[in-house]
Amino acid sequence: MSSIQKFGAGIWHFATYVDRYATDGYGPARSLLEMIDLAAQVEDLTVVDINFPFADPMLSLDTVEAALARNNLSVIGITPEIYTREFAKGAFTNPDPGVRRRANEVITEAAGVVRRLGASYVKLWPGQDGWDYPFQVDHGVLWKNSIDGVGELAEANPDLKFVIEYKPREPRVHMSYDSMARTLLGIEKIGLPNVGVLLDFGHSLYGGESPADAAQLAIDHGRLFGMDVNDNLRGWDDDLIAGSVHPIELFEFFYTLRKNGWEGVWQLDQFPFREDSVAAATSAIDFLKAVERALDKLDFEAMKQAQARHDAVTALNLARQALFSSMSETR
Ligand code: FE
Ligand code: FE
Repeated sequence: MSSIQKFGAGIWHFATYVDRYATDGYGPARSLLEMIDLAAQVEDLTVVDINFPFADPMLSLDTVEAALARNNLSVIGITPEIYTREFAKGAFTNPDPGVRRRANEVITEAAGVVRRLGASYVKLWPGQDGWDYPFQVDHGVLWKNSIDGVGELAEANPDLKFVIEYKPREPRVHMSYDSMARTLLGIEKIGLPNVGVLLDFGHSLYGGESPADAAQLAIDHGRLFGMDVNDNLRGWDDDLIAGSVHPIELFEFFYTLRKNGWEGVWQLDQFPFREDSVAAATSAIDFLKAVERALDKLDFEAMKQAQARHDAVTALNLARQALFSSMSETR
């Protein structure tokens, strides 16, 4: 089982970044083709998620497809850029109906790319859909537009899956799809089979959730369509190397997936601002492979019994023993 686990990454892992201080970036800008070549340098990385439209409007889909093929990379998702300047006041919830229509067009185009590349889903990250100030929005209208915008797309493209990646905040001070519970409520309201959640471990952590609990809730509703891993200090979406800060909670998250027979790509969503991107991805995947070994080793029956008694000490001992003893071993 463990040998077939696929590892992936958002292609932006291999970009260089700007922030509001280093406004000229922490490194020279990289083209998508350069990012694809870097991703291929990470041993065990076989799957990527790609933003669309491409930063370089001259870059053709054929060229991207050829670069992926030459590097033996497949595409799990396409992330339409519905969070750029044009969508500063929201994509699905923009007060201007023309901008809402434009978001629908961009996502519809991304849906075509998903079909063309044989990807699994259109990834919706509505980072600008939300608000910043009290009294800024009518919350009823905002939430209705959030739901209707996704519902229209899912209805128009029944052959494709749409995944919503929720996050508490940033860039908006409060995002509309902010948590697992709210996202599931929205999805249930939409009521279509092809809309699910992409659970980003870090978003869940800094949103004050237990990622394991959030995963279980999504699985119980049949809506866990994808996942991202990374880590943070819980106050922000730091997108640090997976396993660097919260190894035990990360292990519980993957334990929950394994226990439920959930199968899918283990994807990195990391932003190595100051680190070598290939080294940061390799470090994370090495850790995730140890997690896999730990899951193979963990006594699931003993864990079940400990949990039936709410026996924290026994449960933690079992988890720590399996995880930390797997860290030093190699396959
Ligand atoms: Fe993510
Ligand atoms: Fe994030």
